[in-house]
Amino acid sequence: MFAPAPCYHSDVLIVGGGIAGLVTALKLLDSNLSLIILDRDRKDKLGGLAKESFGGICAVGTPLQKRMGIPDTPEIAWEDWKRVARFRREDKWPKAWAKRYVEHSEKDIYTFLTELGIRFLPVVNWPERGMLQTANSLPRWHIAWGTGHRIIECLLKAIHDHPNRNKLSFRFGHCVKNITIQQGKVCGCTGTMEGTGRPFEAHADRVVLSAGGICGGNLSRVRRHWPGHLDKIPSRLLNGSHRFADGLIHDAAAAIGGKVDHPDRQWHYAAGIPYPKSLIENQGLSLVPPRSALWLNAKGERIGPLPLMGYTDTGYIVERLCREEEPFSWLLLNRKIALREMAVSGCDYMTAFRHRKFLKMIRELLFGNRELTDRLIRESDDILTAATLMELGRKMQEKTPEVPLNMKAMEKAVRAYDRQIEWGPSFFTDDQLRRIAITRKYRGDRLRTCKFQQILDPSAGPLMAIRTFILTRKSLGGIRTDLKSRVLNGQDSPIPGLFAAGETAGFGGGNMHGKGALEGTFLGGAILTAHHAAGSICKGE
Ligand SMILES: Cc1cc2nc3c(=O)[nH]c(=O)nc-3n(C[C@H](O)[C@H](O)[C@H](O)COP(=O)(O)OP(=O)(O)OC[C@H]3O[C@@H](n4cnc5c(N)ncnc54)[C@H](O)[C@@H]3O)c2cc1C
Repeated sequence: MFAPAPCYHSDVLIVGGGIAGLVTALKLLDSNLSLIILDRDRKDKLGGLAKESFGGICAVGTPLQKRMGIPDTPEIAWEDWKRVARFRREDKWPKAWAKRYVEHSEKDIYTFLTELGIRFLPVVNWPERGMLQTANSLPRWHIAWGTGHRIIECLLKAIHDHPNRNKLSFRFGHCVKNITIQQGKVCGCTGTMEGTGRPFEAHADRVVLSAGGICGGNLSRVRRHWPGHLDKIPSRLLNGSHRFADGLIHDAAAAIGGKVDHPDRQWHYAAGIPYPKSLIENQGLSLVPPRSALWLNAKGERIGPLPLMGYTDTGYIVERLCREEEPFSWLLLNRKIALREMAVSGCDYMTAFRHRKFLKMIRELLFGNRELTDRLIRESDDILTAATLMELGRKMQEKTPEVPLNMKAMEKAVRAYDRQIEWGPSFFTDDQLRRIAITRKYRGDRLRTCKFQQILDPSAGPLMAIRTFILTRKSLGGIRTDLKSRVLNGQDSPIPGLFAAGETAGFGGGNMHGKGALEGTFLGGAILTAHHAAGSICKGE
């Protein structure tokens, strides 16, 4: 005899315990409703991707910006957002969510987090200034002290301390596969347990989908829906998303009439390396590419005509690299550049930030991050070092024997770049150097960007070459929702009882970012959409 399938009952079911699911739960605890979070992952992974994230938050018009004299307003941010998103006239809900974001990020995201106990670093960062056109015209990337890990810690503490805490229960290892519907109204979901495959069912009048995006899993969705504007799918892609970000929930929503928009809008990164010592197949680690490194193609030729510069324009760089023949490229730099500029997107390797070691962070800012550089060199097979360019070239060729290295072109590019630095800023024609000069004028970037560092400077060695791959990350498209976070069908009508938040909902409206992002809007978008989902449920929507 088989034991009967587990059967759960609550007022609200939340599918996915990432940041979107947890914020929804925290807000709903105020309402006295009973809640269950069903998550496919293990208990120690509660918090999803946010727990591994660096915790950069895009917010507009914050006290921190004001203190730094940054004259940002929702109007300026809205113009930036539209330029990058390239919305079409019919993108009604994405536009509405994006506008909501820029107008409410200060209160609903920044203040919400500070009230949870999050402190932000006193200097606002400035990624994504744009290559061909301006993206962020002002700095608005606020770094949560303690990274995304701390955000999740604070959220869990707030849930734990809530007077209605016992209204919420968690079911881990539960993979939701179907949403159940009766007489046109959602009434629960069904699925199977991870590992055993044992079925379960859960019943509730309202179901919130917050199960993340589609850019993870075995990457089959990434490949199937590869963005049309990117030339070709690189033969090797690294997974920088969740191992369960496989689109199962998108299919479940579509099966009951939910509209899923733009699976081909994907936000990937250009400087991925295989995650050292990872147990997850094909997992990638996303480096923040040093601005002073030269970006070379697989043959060692500098990519152009516009030289690529890290941290400037993710969309452009990925697009440009996908036009290359080979699936990898090289970052060429030296130890001095690495010490000052190398960083990792995520919290594992950024230990001073993750563990809130203020003095350590200041030391690393002033004297360079030796711990990070040495650890990466030690752990990664894709980071090569050498005393001379000849030796480095030999090692690069050994690493990738299938692609002949154009040593002459590499040496010529490096010497031309170094010569301009020798001549001095008055004679810069190299676009990368001109950008570095401007970048260093912003207080938040001066310390983190070398002052025109020659690559072959003998006192700055050894030389380094990093082999990088495209790394998948965020799904910009998702399940379409209105401003109440209600899931909409193809006729734009809400499906009664069904809500979506976070990456599952394309961070709002099925595609809040349109075609590109200003960065830091993912954690923020997850928080915002979760607030709206919970608010609507509390109001009895
Ligand atoms: C290393 C890294 C660094 C990042 N840095 C930043 C940053 O600095 N700023 C920023 O804005 N964004 C950043 N991001 C992106 C951001 O973290 C995510 O977009 C965001 O956390 C997504 O939250 P979510 O709750 O929507 O989904 P997720 O975090 O993906 O959570 C989804 C949850 O649903 C569960 N689940 C999936 N499928 C099912 C199913 N079928 N049944 C039940 N449960 C399921 C999963 O196990 C998971 O727990 C980063 C991401 C990574 C990986």
